[in-house]
Amino acid sequence: MEQSIKISSRKFQNQLLNWYDGHARILPWRDHPTPYQVWVSEIMLQQTRVQTVLPYFQHFIRDIPSVEVLAAIPEEKLLKYWEGLGYYHRALNMKKAAVLIMERFGGSLPSETAVLRTLPGIGPYTAGAIASIAFGKRDTAIDGNVIRVMVRITADNRDSSSKQVKNQVDQAVRALLPEERAGDFNQALMELGATVCLPGGIPECGACPVQEWCMGYSKGMASTLPVKKSKSPRTIQKKTVFLICAEGTFALRKRPPDGLLPNLWEFPSAEGHLPEEKWIDIMETWGIQMKNMVLLQEETHVFTHLEWHMKGGLITAQRPQDTEGFLWADRCQIREIYAVPAAYAGYANLLDRMAV
Ligand code: SF4
Repeated sequence: MEQSIKISSRKFQNQLLNWYDGHARILPWRDHPTPYQVWVSEIMLQQTRVQTVLPYFQHFIRDIPSVEVLAAIPEEKLLKYWEGLGYYHRALNMKKAAVLIMERFGGSLPSETAVLRTLPGIGPYTAGAIASIAFGKRDTAIDGNVIRVMVRITADNRDSSSKQVKNQVDQAVRALLPEERAGDFNQALMELGATVCLPGGIPECGACPVQEWCMGYSKGMASTLPVKKSKSPRTIQKKTVFLICAEGTFALRKRPPDGLLPNLWEFPSAEGHLPEEKWIDIMETWGIQMKNMVLLQEETHVFTHLEWHMKGGLITAQRPQDTEGFLWADRCQIREIYAVPAAYAGYANLLDRMAV
């Protein structure tokens, strides 16, 4: 893989960087960013589309403009800034890392990849991206876009999710990195993957600045690459989600600190699609006296390896005296204060439409 590109690496670098200079999308984290801004953008962009990240990034940077502010922000408030963005452990790890950066590095992000990698939530990709983009270090940042571009260029038809292919892509990119502008070079490869060498078998090779090196293109294989081992199907989990309303407030409970959606607030739920005649029993176990119940629409939420298939119920209840683990919040508090994950958006959106 490495050899075939190395032959004319200077020309490859120039053509890719010239294309990047003329075609890169204008994004807020590319406008003379501080290392902190690079870090925030790279974490937000993990498994998340640029268009989704844009408003979150601007809001976050406006209100949490530095490592110092991030280290001091209460977790509850931080999760509210992340609400709807998903993969919430990213935000929690950033806060942990910010505390360490304050303690160990006086509030400035370290510039070395190896040191960055000691911080929570910073893996090889993010460390390489911060080191190269924010500090100009000659290091690689290999994400899914870069892997797709490189396996097409090298016509590599092995399983692109394998460690072996990823390591070879890393070596090939490392060999191609220019002495100057390594950060721009990494971003150019990613930008090429995001805007030209598109996923789903539809690369726009006619607009590609590195077409002359692309063996996938010359062999007519580009649209069949990358090859990915078929994924195991997602696990389906059925749940019954309850909007329990008492005196204008709704019950929320906090999810556990580990695992999926850590420490976020959710509407109480039970495993499985409970038939309505069982609802009164579950309310009793929660110490809730039910006055009325209405069946709500079904909702589905898809995570990476899991799908929630949810049945919903609206319960009108007496204001309970003792409901351990529940918090009662009105609509405004749920909107403004408590972070409820997007998985529940279909039910959360109903709150404002309810005449209760
Ligand atoms: Fe991707 Fe086509 Fe460019 Fe090859 S020529 S890198 S397949 S866009």
